[in-house]
Amino acid sequence: LIARIRRQGRGGRGVLKGIGDDCAVLRIPPGHEALVTTDFSLEGVHFRREWHPPESVGHRCLARGLSDIAAMGGDPIAVFLSLALPSGLPQSWVDRFIKGLTDLAKSFRVTLAGGDTAQSPDGVLADVVVLGSAPRGKAILRSGARPGDKIYVTGSLGGSAATLKQLMDGRKPSSRCHDRHFFPQPRIEVGQLLRRRRLASAMIDLSDGLSTDLAHICKESSVGAEMWANVIPRATIGNAPVALEFGLHGGEDYELLFATRPKETVPRQLGRVAVTEVGRVIRGRGMFLLGENGPTVLQAQGWEHFRKAR
Ligand SMILES: [Mg+2]
Repeated sequence: LIARIRRQGRGGRGVLKGIGDDCAVLRIPPGHEALVTTDFSLEGVHFRREWHPPESVGHRCLARGLSDIAAMGGDPIAVFLSLALPSGLPQSWVDRFIKGLTDLAKSFRVTLAGGDTAQSPDGVLADVVVLGSAPRGKAILRSGARPGDKIYVTGSLGGSAATLKQLMDGRKPSSRCHDRHFFPQPRIEVGQLLRRRRLASAMIDLSDGLSTDLAHICKESSVGAEMWANVIPRATIGNAPVALEFGLHGGEDYELLFATRPKETVPRQLGRVAVTEVGRVIRGRGMFLLGENGPTVLQAQGWEHFRKAR
């Protein structure tokens, strides 16, 4: 397996020594700081082998880490994969998993620079570590939002959760939202543009769902938020937008949520990705949803809750 992975790619930018020694040797660009993120992807929790093709599992487990780097405005450098596989798993599954992961890595010029393998007593377990960098002091944190800041999201929301719901209901996923769930694209370029233009006062990626991830920004920034229900950009299935609850609470869209100071002008698109103003940062700690029936309290009921409820 390691030999196969090794053939996938030689050292890229910043990777002086990848697979083939006791440690990888990496170089952080001068004047930059290291960003490190780690994510588990567990069979039965984050994916199901009967629903998710192996390429999708490999893609998604790396997309989670790259999305975290995007949320800091960072530049990914190297990926590490620890993989535990049950005995009897077909070799073709592993090959296709690695292909899904390395195809996404290549598209962002990131090297798979090491990892570990073991036998799993039950189910596939993948732990992905992504190392990235950002110029010193310039990584965009969750803690910078202030009352009065405008709140934006990239892309459209709820497509991944709507697709998961179709899978749970035993239906064939609609092609319109297929890739949003199976092959989400981390917003690395948008994150970097926001950092370079100094537009974002705070940022997070939407992995757990808008309500939950917004709550993380509010907590770290000691602020509240009001969101405007009718402008939240929702993914469409057929010609209809997905249900608002998918847009508000559905996870795994891997879009970005960020705040900007009131005086800033944010373009409608960044790197060909739509950017939509969806609310305001307010004083206090409350989160509110302004809809047709007036303001209601917006509960953080992201992914875990959302999944259990179904
Ligand atoms: Mg994150």
